[in-house]
Amino acid sequence: AAKRRGRARVEVFSPDLRHHALTKLSIESELRTAIREGELVVHYQPIVRLDTRETVAFEALVRWQHPNRGLLMPEEFIEVCEEANLVVPLGAFVIMETCELLAAHPEFPGRIYVNVSTRQIGSADLTRVVMHALETTGVDPSRLGLEITESGMLIATQAARTDLDGLTRLGVDLVIDDFGTGYSSLSSVLLNPVAGLKLAREFTLRLGDRSTGDRISGTVAQLTSNLDLYGVIEGIESEAQRAMAIEHGWTHGQGFLFGHGVPAERLAFSPDGHVSLTDDEHGTIPSAG
Ligand code: C2E
Ligand code: MG
Ligand code: MG
Ligand code: MG
Repeated sequence: AAKRRGRARVEVFSPDLRHHALTKLSIESELRTAIREGELVVHYQPIVRLDTRETVAFEALVRWQHPNRGLLMPEEFIEVCEEANLVVPLGAFVIMETCELLAAHPEFPGRIYVNVSTRQIGSADLTRVVMHALETTGVDPSRLGLEITESGMLIATQAARTDLDGLTRLGVDLVIDDFGTGYSSLSSVLLNPVAGLKLAREFTLRLGDRSTGDRISGTVAQLTSNLDLYGVIEGIESEAQRAMAIEHGWTHGQGFLFGHGVPAERLAFSPDGHVSLTDDEHGTIPSAG
């Protein structure tokens, strides 16, 4: 065993590593094809009022319907995408799909929030990408939001600042995603035109029994309301978590208790803008999360 370990350690260019690099390269080229050939799909997860469970907004979540590997989740390809400078075309795709859904359903009164990578801000002229999608589809900017992590909010370049200010001036909401998990939660609020924040799921996971998680949840809910921000608690999976979130002062939430992400075809909008899910008759759509 020692011999095997030793060998593994000296073989810097082991077949394993080369395989890994090749895989990354092939993912990269496959991703280019995927974007071109329409293999990317967007699922929409409801954001609800915690008291009535009514869907008031959606979060757009990208998936890759891979021709032979099945439905891939963003964690399996976003990083490669970022490294390969593909996150800009990917982001443009998700923003365009979202705007098309909004355009098809003018009766839906809520926003749809799109996740934006740090790399899309500033260098990639995000404002122009967003404006292009809004103009092409005729969607009002007040119906779109962007979710940005704390680190994304804190990039100090002038281009990034211009992007974030430009988007806000357009009327697109900026929301801090996974709040509490970055390095500078409060400066991201202080330094940016932020409309809301989403408390990261890792805090929701630790709710109960007057835990530290409870106290953080209560404190952030209060902070959110004191700052007149729109607050969402993420990752609500149980009735108990829903009840505790309400007790802590949260009004809006998201999580598998209320619904997974589903493709646009499964969303049914009533004339007054209420949303329900249609059945997946063919059983071909995997329940995503
Ligand atoms: P996120 O923005 O924090 O999105 C929430 C993630 O948590 C989603 O995973 C969602 O399906 C999952 N989730 C929601 N409710 C629950 C719950 O109750 N329990 C559990 N266990 N999970 C829940 P998903 O779709 O795999 O996305 C992962 C991350 O990938 C996202 O985290 C986001 O950072 C990134 N991402 C997704 N779509 C895009 C995109 O279009 N562009 C970019 N740049 N990143 C994206
Ligand atoms: Mg998000
Ligand atoms: Mg999040
Ligand atoms: Mg996350």
